[in-house]
Amino acid sequence: MTYDLIVIGAGPGGFDAAVEAAGLGLSVALIEKDFLGGTCLNRGCIPTKLWLGATSAVEELHNQARMKVASGEVTVNFAALQSRVQKHLAGTRKAMGMQLKKLGVELVEGTGRLAGDHQVAVASADGEKTLAYKKLVVATGSRPIFFPGLEPDGDCVLDSDMFLSLESMPESLIVVGAGFIGLEMAQVAHRFGCKVTVVDAMDRVAPLEDPEVSQALAGVFKRWKWDIRLNERVAGVVTRDGRALLTLNSGEHIVADKALVAVGRGPVTKGIGLEEAGVELLFNQIQVDEHLLAAPDIYAIGDANGHIQLAHAASHQAHYVALHAAGKIEAPYVVGPVPSVLYGSPEAMRVGLMENEAFLADFETTEVSVAQLAANPMAQAHAATQGFVKIIWSGGKVVGVTAVGHDVSRLVTPAAMIVHQGWTLDDIHSVIFPHPSLDEALLMALKAERKQVQ
Ligand code: FAD
Repeated sequence: MTYDLIVIGAGPGGFDAAVEAAGLGLSVALIEKDFLGGTCLNRGCIPTKLWLGATSAVEELHNQARMKVASGEVTVNFAALQSRVQKHLAGTRKAMGMQLKKLGVELVEGTGRLAGDHQVAVASADGEKTLAYKKLVVATGSRPIFFPGLEPDGDCVLDSDMFLSLESMPESLIVVGAGFIGLEMAQVAHRFGCKVTVVDAMDRVAPLEDPEVSQALAGVFKRWKWDIRLNERVAGVVTRDGRALLTLNSGEHIVADKALVAVGRGPVTKGIGLEEAGVELLFNQIQVDEHLLAAPDIYAIGDANGHIQLAHAASHQAHYVALHAAGKIEAPYVVGPVPSVLYGSPEAMRVGLMENEAFLADFETTEVSVAQLAANPMAQAHAATQGFVKIIWSGGKVVGVTAVGHDVSRLVTPAAMIVHQGWTLDDIHSVIFPHPSLDEALLMALKAERKQVQ
């Protein structure tokens, strides 16, 4: 049989592509070498949020204790949490498997490799079989990458996959890389009472965010007594005498129970016959055209094409390729503003342009308006008033929203809609913002006095 569509990789991109294509009436096979759900479900978005959710009461209590209205201790049992995470993941994978069955998607377990004209070979413990396709989606995702000297050893030097598999939380942790993965995990470790050191070669934490967001985050982390080392290059990190020993280029040593290396992720695109099939790789990222096609009849989506390493971006691309493969759409793929969130407490969120990207808009007409969370009743109620919401305007329209502070992730969807619709000042009163709510900080920022970007 020749499948209408074969998908390699069952992360958010591949799974959604398979499900949507089957829903459109295509015959679909989904090849996965590991677990349904990919990085996001098994080693990424979901376990980290289960960790953050289970420990959020620690931070809430801490904030109220600072106001002297609460005291005591919240104890989170790490072993129980890990067992709950595993049960949750297994339950979700089971539900996903049932959904595939219901839709008639054939799940093929094994490692897929392009093997000649419109054919994929799947290798598993049972041997190898070949499947034929009309269209193929490559959604093989990404994995952690390392610089020389920073390779994890699985003992005291860990990558994010290994860190999520820990049986107990260390008492001290060095996090190499102050991006969203490192900072989310560091926040969880902190809530377990772990002493945290963060090292980054850049001059600020969360270097992809607005510099004022980085500053606000660092302010809170320093109040928590994290040791934050910026502008520091790491010469190497190894396990020595049962502990992690990190050496800076300056020669200084830092020792902790564990080190988490979170310096980035790279696409999984090598050794699966892509180049032989005429697919171009640049820095291992699959190059795609405006229809997300990497070669005739071969789409590439999600982390594998390196556009944006976020689960919802992969799912959005999946939706498009399912429609395109089914002949329901011919127009090129268009992506609106992609929201991104750094979770925890504080959180950071952004959608559209940031102030330091104003040069990408019409610089002459770019303005900024800001509201501080200190004036927001819900931030006050949660005793977490550090942070702000910032609006970027260009030509009188909203082109970006950035926020940092407690719970600001809840602003991200309205912010995405506002940016997508390009609100003007007149549109602000077209929607009623409830009172009291954190959303009012968004409203205040929209209404605040605007200043020209410097
Ligand atoms: P993946 O999820 O990586 O899935 C790819 C799948 O392909 C895997 O299951 C793999 O086993 C399979 N595969 C690879 N090669 C083959 C082959 N040859 N044959 C068969 N199968 C193969 N994103 C967010 O949006 N929000 C978050 O909060 C968030 N948190 C994260 C936290 C962490 C710690 C990490 C590591 C990532 C996080 N991400 C988050 C990123 C998110 O997980 C990825 O962007 C998303 O999983 C990408 O989806 P994908 O489908 O492209 O690939």
